[in-house]
Amino acid sequence: MDRLLFNMTHRCGHRQLPGASAFDRHEARFIRAAFSCPHCLAELARRSMLDTRVFVNLRQQASDGLAFVIEVADASDELGELLASTGYHSNRKTLDEMSPGIRGLLHDDRFWSKEMSFASDADPRQVVEIIDRVKLEMTWLEPYLPLGAEAIEYCTFPL
Ligand SMILES: [Zn+2]
Repeated sequence: MDRLLFNMTHRCGHRQLPGASAFDRHEARFIRAAFSCPHCLAELARRSMLDTRVFVNLRQQASDGLAFVIEVADASDELGELLASTGYHSNRKTLDEMSPGIRGLLHDDRFWSKEMSFASDADPRQVVEIIDRVKLEMTWLEPYLPLGAEAIEYCTFPL
């Protein structure tokens, strides 16, 4: 199994690097091989002057619940396709903890988001599990960002 993964190549021809073992069951594990590698996509973003950033926030949902919301701003077209195939949706920006997606009237095709919801009375262990999923998400997204970890912001909303 591991050997197969190590030998997978990305669309750009570069070899797929093994991620953390927790990443083995992640939906992006295999899908991302169909796209250029993180290095090439980060380079593409740099050349295209895209300041791809990730914002992670906790947000009140319309229903009786909360959600960790991961928002990716200024993604290249190809990174957008990868995000779309791993559970992200093209979306409007979140303004604050209480107002999902009201900034900007039109959907922005460079702006992607993924929500991980839970009930406001959820078992704390379930919340910790979701936090671990958010961390894993940052682990695989970080190499795609031109500024790496510096481009990931917590409890800050997109401009
Ligand atoms: Zn590459």
